[in-house]
Amino acid sequence: MNGVVKPLIKSKCAQGVRAHIGKLNVVSPPVAIPTSKNRWTLTGKTKRKNGYIYEKCICSCGTVKYILRSHVLSNQSKSCGCLLRDTLVNINKTHGRTCTHEFTIWQGLRKRCENVNDKKYIDYGGRGISVCVEWKKFETFFDDMGLRPTAKHSIDRKDNDGNYCKKNCKWATKTEQARNRRVQKRNKSGVVGVYLVKDKFRAIITDNNKKHIHLGYFKTIEEATAAREEAKIKYWGENV
Ligand SMILES: [Zn+2]
Repeated sequence: MNGVVKPLIKSKCAQGVRAHIGKLNVVSPPVAIPTSKNRWTLTGKTKRKNGYIYEKCICSCGTVKYILRSHVLSNQSKSCGCLLRDTLVNINKTHGRTCTHEFTIWQGLRKRCENVNDKKYIDYGGRGISVCVEWKKFETFFDDMGLRPTAKHSIDRKDNDGNYCKKNCKWATKTEQARNRRVQKRNKSGVVGVYLVKDKFRAIITDNNKKHIHLGYFKTIEEATAAREEAKIKYWGENV
């Protein structure tokens, strides 16, 4: 094992794979996605999972990951997470309120909604919850929300399916937030593991390691439920 240097990209594509995806020609060897802010480079290697195509991508920081093709081509995923991190660091340098709790809270909500690699993304950005344009700037968020009343307070959305914006947010303690969740049923589809996201049904399963597995978006609740039933057998070994 020692001394063996693995190449970053395994070029299995001897024929020079060329696939037409949307308006982009993806070729192997790696091609950069032609946008200034996207840090991914496609290797041309793909894999299929649950009917979805994943692109093997290399981030400009060197991280290699398989990213859902639609995410990478629509710029929903722009990096392994380092782009948002760098942006937040730059903002932190300029707004003057370095390392405040409010800033950390603001950073957290942006990550949950905008970084597909964030472990909480599935419950936020993945459910269609976003941060309003005004709150992309920490200053506006801080103007709207002010200092949190106590160390026990964190940001809470009044409507659990609504976005992060002035109208929908308040400082609340954990207890207050739990009560809020009990009143407002998060799961509008009525089926466990199936969530209505905009006009589609998203199926999710939690595997035995408590990791959320995205099963896909479906046009109908029946399709989403069927996908989840199938996943139950796969991930839980359950017979239905
Ligand atoms: Zn990166």
